[in-house]
Amino acid sequence: MAGVIGDPVDHSLSPALHNAAYEALGLDWVYVAFPVPAGEGAAAVAAMRSLRLAGLSVTMPHKADVAASVDRLGTTAARLGVANTVSWAAGRDGAELVGDSTDGAGFLDALRGDDGFDPAERNCVVLGAGGAARAVTLALADAGAASITVVARRRDAGQDCARLAAGRFVDAERATSAATLADLVVNATPTGMAAGDGLPFDLDPTAFRPEQFVVDLIYTPAVTPMLGAARAQGATTANGLGMLIHQAARQVELWTGRPAPLEAMSAAALAAIAHRG
Ligand code: NAP
Repeated sequence: MAGVIGDPVDHSLSPALHNAAYEALGLDWVYVAFPVPAGEGAAAVAAMRSLRLAGLSVTMPHKADVAASVDRLGTTAARLGVANTVSWAAGRDGAELVGDSTDGAGFLDALRGDDGFDPAERNCVVLGAGGAARAVTLALADAGAASITVVARRRDAGQDCARLAAGRFVDAERATSAATLADLVVNATPTGMAAGDGLPFDLDPTAFRPEQFVVDLIYTPAVTPMLGAARAQGATTANGLGMLIHQAARQVELWTGRPAPLEAMSAAALAAIAHRG
């Protein structure tokens, strides 16, 4: 048994993704969503140890608590200070729990593998400075981006995020000029998810260019106002579904030791989203 902890966790797509993967791999495994209230992340890690769960996915608000509760952190999780994945150390089942962060790697897998965009030597802009923005910023730096500019409304959070990548922080007023100059623009804010939302940081919708690649980490709606504006200017776009699938695929591979069945996972994610309406 594996699972996800979060609060709220009812609408998580992780059970659909993981259970489809296990079925396609022919494994007699099951993955369930555990609603765990804020403050009980460490207790959930202890429960994983007692119950010998094969793996744990971690979502809001537990990522920092879990990072502080495992026996060891992988390099990326240690640099970010958060973990979205808990696994048993290879060959040490029942002995040592390791925390990892698969969000950044999942983002890069989608960007390079599915979309064919290599961020190496490219100028990148990340909108937002929360958990997803930090994972993406670090991943882009590790992938050899030429420059990374973080746009955020809070200076301290923006500077902290930019520092992960020796990048620079600019405030919201300069979002449009930063985005216009970039090869890659990534929205890592929730702006665009709710009905009636506009573009993040009130970006000028004509700021985009045909040479650009524009990613929104949001996946419902599939086309956010920012992606719609970017497409209208001829830019290439992608939503966050690829990242969601690939971060889960990395977990499947960590826990089962088998290559993740990406097609089955992708089909399950699309079916679950369609079912929600
Ligand atoms: P988070 O930690 O809460 O961070 C949100 C960031 O967006 C913060 O920097 C926040 O700034 C900023 N923000 C929020 N509302 C804003 C607004 N109206 N204007 C400007 N900035 C605003 O959340 P997260 O976990 O990073 O998630 C961010 C987005 O990425 C969400 O839409 C989430 O669904 C998506 N996501 C997708 C995946 C995937 O697999 N596709 C994975 C993770 C996250 P303040 O600190 O000033 O509030």
